[in-house]
Amino acid sequence: MSEIRKHYFLDEYCIIASDRGKRPSAAEARDVGRASSGCVFCQGNEDRTPPATAVYKGGEILRDGEGQRVSGWDVRCIPNMFPALSPDTEEVSSPDPEIMQGYGFHEVIVESPRHEDRLNLFSDEKMLFLMQVYRDRVMYYRSRDGVRYVSLFKNLGKKAGASLGHTHSQLIAIPFVPPSLQKEIRAIEGLDKCPYCVIVEKEIDSQRLVCRNQDFVVIAPFCSKVPYELWILPLEHVNHISGFSDRLLLSLGKCLRSAISRLDATIPELAYNYMIFQAEEPDYHFNIRIQPATSIAAGFEKNTDIHINSIPPELAVKHLLDRE
Ligand SMILES: [Zn+2]
Ligand SMILES: [Zn+2]
Repeated sequence: MSEIRKHYFLDEYCIIASDRGKRPSAAEARDVGRASSGCVFCQGNEDRTPPATAVYKGGEILRDGEGQRVSGWDVRCIPNMFPALSPDTEEVSSPDPEIMQGYGFHEVIVESPRHEDRLNLFSDEKMLFLMQVYRDRVMYYRSRDGVRYVSLFKNLGKKAGASLGHTHSQLIAIPFVPPSLQKEIRAIEGLDKCPYCVIVEKEIDSQRLVCRNQDFVVIAPFCSKVPYELWILPLEHVNHISGFSDRLLLSLGKCLRSAISRLDATIPELAYNYMIFQAEEPDYHFNIRIQPATSIAAGFEKNTDIHINSIPPELAVKHLLDRE
């Protein structure tokens, strides 16, 4: 039995096909890189990356000099060595309006000097600190000339697109607002009430609730595109991480860790992506979406943009709560 489910408020669909479902096995998800030899993100190897744009060390924000690197750091932000976009691109001289200059910034946030660290093992203080770094770096790049959107995300595991096993997040600042976000904003503008506030009200006591604290809920969305997809939503309407107090960031960090810990306890050799969704428009409602990499988008998904998910979110929540 399968169901075609519509997104809460967008004209998007997924197919929940539970007959195809089974819990992810190690064979499906195995491949999280754990080798640390020669890792350029590890402490002691600082000179093997470009100079850091920001080094967080003992409550201070420092910068590397050319040929001189800060050691003993807590979090290190470095330009991506193979950037998707760069601030130093040449002006495009083509009259073709479809070609734009590849302007932007691509940064790696190395979350810990220790290779084997995982967010689910971070202390409250380390999670708060990481969330503060996220807020800082997003605010830094959104104020740069020509930047219209800052994409902040984490890939963990080869299957989720990470090329290095050392725990890190990434940030890509781009010169336009992505059309998918614009589409969401337009849909929200046409509604009487914020649809994410409605989702929070609806799911907070539903069978799709994974956990909550005084500020956030973690839910498996009704229209989960992939098995074990989770969304983190603030209970109060906030549009952007720049509006988060430290108290709220601590609460967010704890919720994010809790969501990842549950996934880690349920899915062998967990690989995942999480993405922060936010907008400058006050009507938008900040959210984080976590998608474990247990399936791959294949021909049907690419043909229709409709995802086939073999594990209904209600069942995913049962599995996640079983592991308490
Ligand atoms: Zn490393
Ligand atoms: Zn809202």
